[in-house]
Amino acid sequence: MTDLAHDLADFIAAAPTPYHAVAEGVRRLSAAGFSEQPEAGPWDGSSGGRYLVRDGTLLAWFVPEAAPPGTPMRIFAAHTDSPTLKVKPRPDVGAGGWRQVAVEVYGGALWNSWLDRDLGLAGRLALYDGTTVLVDVHRPLLRVPQLAIHLDRQVNQGLSLDAQQHLLPVWGLGSPAEGDLIEFLADEVGVDPDEVAAHDLVVHDVTPPARLGEEEELLAAPRLDNLASAHAGLGALLAAADDAGGVIPVFVGFDHEEIGSGSATGAAGPLLETVLTRLAGGFDARGAAFAGSRCLSVDVTHAAHPNYLGHHDPTHRALPNGGPALKVNANQRYATDAPGAAAWHRACRDAGVPTQVFVGKNTVPCGTTVGPLIATRLGIRTVDVGIPVLSMHSARELCGVRDPGHLAAAATAFLTDPV
Ligand code: ZN
Repeated sequence: MTDLAHDLADFIAAAPTPYHAVAEGVRRLSAAGFSEQPEAGPWDGSSGGRYLVRDGTLLAWFVPEAAPPGTPMRIFAAHTDSPTLKVKPRPDVGAGGWRQVAVEVYGGALWNSWLDRDLGLAGRLALYDGTTVLVDVHRPLLRVPQLAIHLDRQVNQGLSLDAQQHLLPVWGLGSPAEGDLIEFLADEVGVDPDEVAAHDLVVHDVTPPARLGEEEELLAAPRLDNLASAHAGLGALLAAADDAGGVIPVFVGFDHEEIGSGSATGAAGPLLETVLTRLAGGFDARGAAFAGSRCLSVDVTHAAHPNYLGHHDPTHRALPNGGPALKVNANQRYATDAPGAAAWHRACRDAGVPTQVFVGKNTVPCGTTVGPLIATRLGIRTVDVGIPVLSMHSARELCGVRDPGHLAAAATAFLTDPV
């Protein structure tokens, strides 16, 4: 189990952005014999493992021998993006003798968690010739410096940050000059800076994931939300491919969940529907396929916080290493219903892993994720689950070292469940 946490730490380090998460996923799938299904090419419906890439979103599936049109699917859905600071199109700014980078906030980040960290910069450069190049400066390059307490004695009564003014990282001294940052990044990856037409770049904490606790039973890492789930899902798909029978196991890792999923590559867009329709054997066959299909929507959930226990429902809270939690909400902020919950409990029983049940406190608004969007778009029964983490949406989150393994094992059982 803890070997898997080790592998998760490697996956997280390799995936500072959704584009890198997809590239790392492709690397792992290719090594296991999966081949690419080009989105614009003819559909290959033969048996075997395939993957399809669009930007920061990755889909993969395994068609078993003798799978007729209409074969039901078992879908593992997660997301590849995390809250962060995104570089603006014209990044070169500065003040008071410092060179800085213009950023805006991506998603519901805990802004304070980005202060005083050694930050790298990663993403993609889009060139005039229509290609994109991945870039990852995985060493300390930037820092969003806090104001010294001597200059604001009231700060511990409540930190107040202005996203336009207080979150700009510094990356050196001197005067800013337009084109500096892109020139630096183009140099890093060996492309002509004059050929860079645009960019998608975010900052990331370069501190490696670490085990902590007396028994080292906890894992501190960036982007556990939701790379912990994406990593477990990819592992589960590969395991399910070895054991595939009367169902087609599918993995999808969507971009843009943290900003509401509304994009060409997000869960509210048509991409999954298009792929599953083709996988089902066309529009006529998909009705039967979808009716027999099930989706496991996997995103981290809140671990009970010892310093804020009053924020949790006392009988439906989750702890790290207690197994992934089933997430339930009467108002369908999570898509789980009783038959879906039963399928999850069956998967956990078959895999021999513990599980918990999370329901938010009635007076605290409930979050949501890709599950209800998939259920709404496709009409496929969906169940929401996730491993418990502390500090969700912090630059550095905390989970149990055994839960990634629990999740991968339960997900493998879910992806091969013929019931
Ligand atoms: Zn998430």
